[in-house]
Amino acid sequence: MVSKCPKKEGESFSEWFECILREAEIYDYGRYPVKGVGVWLPYGFQIRKHVIETIRKLLDETGHEEILLPLLIPETIFRKESEHVRGFEGEVYWVTKAGFNELDVRLVLRPTSETVLSYMESLWIKSYRQLPKKYYQIVNIFRYETKMTKPMIRLREVSTFKEAHTLHESFEDAERLVMEAVNIYREFFDLLGIPYLISKRPQWDKFAGALYTIAFDTLLPDGKALQIGTVHNLGQTFTSVYDVKIQKRDETIDYGWQTSYGISERVIASVIAFHSDERGLILPPLIAPIQVVVVPIPVVDNAEKRKEVMEYAQDVYSELKSAGYRVKLDDREELRPVDKYFEWELKGVPLRVEIGKRETEQRKVTLFRRDTLQRYVIERPRLIEAVSTILKEIGEYLRQRAWKWFSERIKTFDSLDEAIDYVRQGGIAQIPWCGDEREAYEAIEKLEAVSVLGAPIPAIERVDVTDKKCALCGGKAYTYLRLAKRY
Ligand SMILES: [Zn+2]
Repeated sequence: MVSKCPKKEGESFSEWFECILREAEIYDYGRYPVKGVGVWLPYGFQIRKHVIETIRKLLDETGHEEILLPLLIPETIFRKESEHVRGFEGEVYWVTKAGFNELDVRLVLRPTSETVLSYMESLWIKSYRQLPKKYYQIVNIFRYETKMTKPMIRLREVSTFKEAHTLHESFEDAERLVMEAVNIYREFFDLLGIPYLISKRPQWDKFAGALYTIAFDTLLPDGKALQIGTVHNLGQTFTSVYDVKIQKRDETIDYGWQTSYGISERVIASVIAFHSDERGLILPPLIAPIQVVVVPIPVVDNAEKRKEVMEYAQDVYSELKSAGYRVKLDDREELRPVDKYFEWELKGVPLRVEIGKRETEQRKVTLFRRDTLQRYVIERPRLIEAVSTILKEIGEYLRQRAWKWFSERIKTFDSLDEAIDYVRQGGIAQIPWCGDEREAYEAIEKLEAVSVLGAPIPAIERVDVTDKKCALCGGKAYTYLRLAKRY
C-alpha cells in the first residue's frame, strides 16, 4: 500500500520530505513557534541515537576522546580570531541580558567550538608528549540562518552537531589527520548507504579560519547537492591567536597545528531521502529502531488455533530478541494485519515476520523484505540464519541502489554551457579546469542556481584530464571543477 505523501523526485521533494517526517513520526517541524528549530519524536530519536552510536564507535576506535564544552562563549574569546568572527558574526545569537542585568561581557551561543576549545587547550597542552589530541563532542549549535529554513537541512538550532577537533605538533601530522578524518567519514557514510563526492572547496567557500576545507556532498531527489560533512585543516590560525604553544621534540616552542571536522542531522535527512520508496521509509538495519517486526495473523473463528498462533509468534519474537535483534511483537488486537503492514512499511522496518495458522502448523515463518518487497517461507530452525543474511543483504542493497542513482547523475562536459544546462536539470557536472579559482568565481558564482562544489582530491581519487582544455579559459586542464545546485 502506498503512503499518502507526494512524489519524492523533483519539485515535490520538500513536500514529500515534510510529509514522511510527519507520517513516520520522526520529527515535528514548523509548529513550535521558533523558526528553524525542530522536535525529535520518539521514533526519530531512536534513529538519531543509532546514527550517533555509529559515528561515536568510529571515533572512539580511532583514538578520539569525547568531551563536552560550554554552550556560551564570551565575546572577548569569540572576537579574538578575526577571520573566524567575520565568517560567523552575521549568524550568531547573542545573550546580552541575564535576569534584570545587562551583561558586561556579552555571550555568544556557540555556532561551532574552535574558539572555546583552543582557549582551553592553551591551558591544557604544553608539550609534544601530550600530542596528538583528538577530541569530539555531539551537541547542539545555533546559527541565525537568513535563507529559507528546512527541517534537518537548514536549521537555526542544529540539534545534532558532531564536531571533532584535533591538535598536532606539525603541519604534516595535521595533514595526515585530515586524511584519517576523510576515511572515517567515508566509512560512516558507507555504513549508512549514503553516496557522496569528496571535493576541495574553493578558498571563497572554506570554513572561516581554515587553510582549506574538504567537503562531502550528496545529491537529494530534487537535484540539489547537500553538504553532509566537512573536514578543515586549520593550520595555526586558532593556536596562534589563543596562544596554544607547545614545546616540540627539538625543544623549540611553536604554536600547535589543528584540524576540525563536522557532521549534522543532514546525514539523517540523507538517509531518509535515499532509502525510501512510494510506501515510505526503508531504514538500513544498522540504524533501524526496530529491525524485525513480528506480526501474528489471528485465526478468526477458532480460539484454540488463535492461541497457538499467538504462542508461536511469541516464541519467534523471543528467539530473535535473545539473538540480539531489535525486534517488536505487534500483538495489538484492534488493528488488522494489513494495517500493521502499512504502518511498519511506512516507518521503514527492514524485515517483517508474518505468522499465521499455516506457519504455526508447519513450523515455518514467512519473511517479508521491505527493500525488494520479496517474501520467503523458511523452516523454523533456519530463522536466525535467514534473518541475519537478509538484514545484511538489505544494508548492501540500499547502499548499491543509492550509489547507482547518484553515479548516474554525475556527468562530465567539455563546455561550460552544457554543464550549466545539466546542473539546472538537477545533476552534478564536472568540467576540465586549469585550477584558477578567481576565474571560476567570476564565471560561475554570479549565475542563478549554479554553484561550485570544488575539485577532486588526487590523494583520494584518480583524476585524468590528459589532453583536456579548461572549459573556462581554454588553457591546459589540471583537474575537474564540479558544479551543482546547492542547498
Ligand atoms: Zn582556466
